[in-house]
Amino acid sequence: MDITEKLLRVNFSTDETPHIKVNTSICDTTCSMKVCLNICPAERFTLESEKLRFVVDGCLECGACRISCDTGAVTWSYPRGGAGVRFRLG
Ligand code: SF4
Ligand code: SF4
Repeated sequence: MDITEKLLRVNFSTDETPHIKVNTSICDTTCSMKVCLNICPAERFTLESEKLRFVVDGCLECGACRISCDTGAVTWSYPRGGAGVRFRLG
């Protein structure tokens, strides 16, 4: 099962205001490690033509990108009430 199939098993209510913003100019100019590419369980960070691309839809709100990015490129907050991920357990 690939990541797209896995994410289809989780419910999301996308907020009109993204709860994560990434300053990709920092990513593309100063960050060589790009740990977000490997640490995000939902694979929301990708490289396209050597440029970092971030898509907030499908974010699992784990906070790993916020903790691991040490350049200040990631601005993170919880989605507003009623929005965001809804895990179905059981
Ligand atoms: S670790 Fe931070 S600065 Fe580096 S590519 Fe990812 S979001 Fe950008
Ligand atoms: S909070 Fe977690 S799932 Fe969402 S973009 Fe960051 S690392 Fe990925």
